[in-house]
Amino acid sequence: MEEIKKMKFSVLTEKGHAEVRERNLPEMGPDDVLVKQLACNICTTDYGQWLGLREHQGYPMAGGHEESGIVMAIGEDVKDLKPGDHVAVAYDSCGKCEACRRGQESMCTGADYKNLSEDGYRGKFGFANYNVRQARTLVKMNPDLDPSEAAFLEPLATVCKGVDKLRLQPFETVVVIGAGTMGLVNAQAAKARNCRVIVTELMEKKIQTARAMGFEVVDVSAGDPVEQVKKLTDGKGVDAVIVAVGNTGANTQAVQMLKKVDGRVLLFAAGYPAPRIETDSNELHYRRIELIGTFGADMKDFFEAARLLNTGAVDMSKLVEPEKFPLDRIQDAFAAASVPGKYRVSVLLNE
Ligand SMILES: [Zn+2]
Ligand SMILES: [Zn+2]
Repeated sequence: MEEIKKMKFSVLTEKGHAEVRERNLPEMGPDDVLVKQLACNICTTDYGQWLGLREHQGYPMAGGHEESGIVMAIGEDVKDLKPGDHVAVAYDSCGKCEACRRGQESMCTGADYKNLSEDGYRGKFGFANYNVRQARTLVKMNPDLDPSEAAFLEPLATVCKGVDKLRLQPFETVVVIGAGTMGLVNAQAAKARNCRVIVTELMEKKIQTARAMGFEVVDVSAGDPVEQVKKLTDGKGVDAVIVAVGNTGANTQAVQMLKKVDGRVLLFAAGYPAPRIETDSNELHYRRIELIGTFGADMKDFFEAARLLNTGAVDMSKLVEPEKFPLDRIQDAFAAASVPGKYRVSVLLNE
């Protein structure tokens, strides 16, 4: 095999402009792995910056963080990966700081959070045909999984963390507000825990997708979603609500959809400007309501996400848009991802 020394990658140079460049691959250390990256999905964070909405992330941005691929070569100290293994990528972490040693890798203080490469790029080089990764950030994936679906490891890991914090129990009833990508990933994770899942949504395309996945759907355009949820639960309300859209109305409905006492709300999504929750502390007090926040994922969540994907307990196939783009068409891929109502647009990195 010819030695691979260079990587081709997408870089966002300014709002609305992504281009493909080439650079030398980083040196492989003893704990590193050379990965042939197959697919990277475009997350809101990525196309938000392309649209000019999240420019605080800085330029030049060699972004992308939802990727999967195949191990090509391993460093001499790598133990549990071998060439040919299919993998997806978790967050960088040092493994040595206190947060890492507690299993809170998402709070790592040792990893390079500026994500600034020696040659001045920001980001994780997700949209790249090859990359050198720390072995500890790679999780083995089922080779039968489509690479664009294996790339759901990271978003699903953040969902696993949230569902864990929400303490969902089998046969509980949970509402997911919003049938966008992250809403339906949450809904799948809740279903994998044997919950009854009701999804609320306004947009017709998303309603169809949620139904095609087998969920009960409340069509918000057909009337007050709180009333509809109450009706579906014999007036009782639900055990838990996952809010997967960032707005005040959704947060407020969530509290109203809960059962009389001991209901829980998971605040999964951020919104800009920051949403509020219209309730008062007496209501939380007397109804014994829990408001739970979640963000990011730790290694244990990545491994749980891999187990769900690898065993087919969740199915992401309907959350990948059928039109996929080669790396050379990264501009078209960002444009497609920016159309409202899109599920994940996948960039194929070696085609
Ligand atoms: Zn993401
Ligand atoms: Zn650390």
